[in-house]
Amino acid sequence: MLRKILTCFSLLIVFTLAATNTAFAKPAEITGINAFNLDKETVRIEISYRGGKLDSSDVSTSLNLGILSVEMHNTLPGRVSRISGTQIESGARDSIDKILANETQPKLTKVQIQFKSFLEGDVQVSFEPSNRSAKKSDRVIIDVKVTEIKDEPFEFDGGDRVIVLDPGHGGSDAGAIGPSGVTEKYVSLEVSLKARDLLTASGYQVVMTRTTDIDVAAPGVPDSTELQARVDKAPPNAALFISVHCNAFSNGKANGMETYHAPMAVQGARLARLLNEELERLGGLSNRGVKAARFYVMTHSQCPASLIELGFITNPREEQLLASDDYQQKLAQAITNAVNRYFNQGGYE
Ligand SMILES: [Zn+2]
Repeated sequence: MLRKILTCFSLLIVFTLAATNTAFAKPAEITGINAFNLDKETVRIEISYRGGKLDSSDVSTSLNLGILSVEMHNTLPGRVSRISGTQIESGARDSIDKILANETQPKLTKVQIQFKSFLEGDVQVSFEPSNRSAKKSDRVIIDVKVTEIKDEPFEFDGGDRVIVLDPGHGGSDAGAIGPSGVTEKYVSLEVSLKARDLLTASGYQVVMTRTTDIDVAAPGVPDSTELQARVDKAPPNAALFISVHCNAFSNGKANGMETYHAPMAVQGARLARLLNEELERLGGLSNRGVKAARFYVMTHSQCPASLIELGFITNPREEQLLASDDYQQKLAQAITNAVNRYFNQGGYE
């Protein structure tokens, strides 16, 4: 009897220790992410960590539209949340745009490897123990065998898609002003109106947050009120929200275009990347890239959203381009091409 009780008691201790181990184990710290080409068709991502042991129950991956997402339970992003912790070796730089790491929930790190084009591929995950002589710490190894998805010729299959165009600023808010007086609110409206006409001709329904030089909410209201009024212009069936802006900086030499999406918004990121590719294709301006940011209209929009900075209105050369009817038409065409490509690739979700 006594013996039996002891056995039960010790089992209880073992069980409690095991439970403690999973629930309260110190998370592993990710110390570095390295990407390189293993062979012609395989990209290898090595994620180094210390202070814990990871296995297949901790790591899950998904590859979607050119973004490889790696969820790592029981980890902290450590220093890789800063740029310095990630490295893309020269060969892999042809296929990988950037690597991001964020702690999305307590002790859950999400690593995103953003490829430059949309890929399909096999993803294999394995685990390597530390190797002192090779100066390697514990690693999670992810091999991605990649096939690029080619664009199909565009065929529009339905006229019920609603695109919301949001010309930045307006009315009492001029936005940024160029050295010769061109205003951001004017450029954003002209480009959006031209894009509206092209998109409408392609069969889309277009909703504009404004079609004239007005404040959408009212003059003098807080920014969040004005921006929410723009978000609210999107009908419930809106497919995409595109906000059109121009950049500004105190130094007139700053130049180039860039596109934005909300952090971790996969479809928004896809839209931002297509817009970026089409703006780059049109040439003329340097490409500052696709970036994640918490702009109000993107984080509050109910549909995939992107904000585009067409160029620097504070740069004299770009101000002249942005003011020209011809260049505005090209920008509108680039937006339209990106929207067409967005839906053309809708099968890869
Ligand atoms: Zn703006």
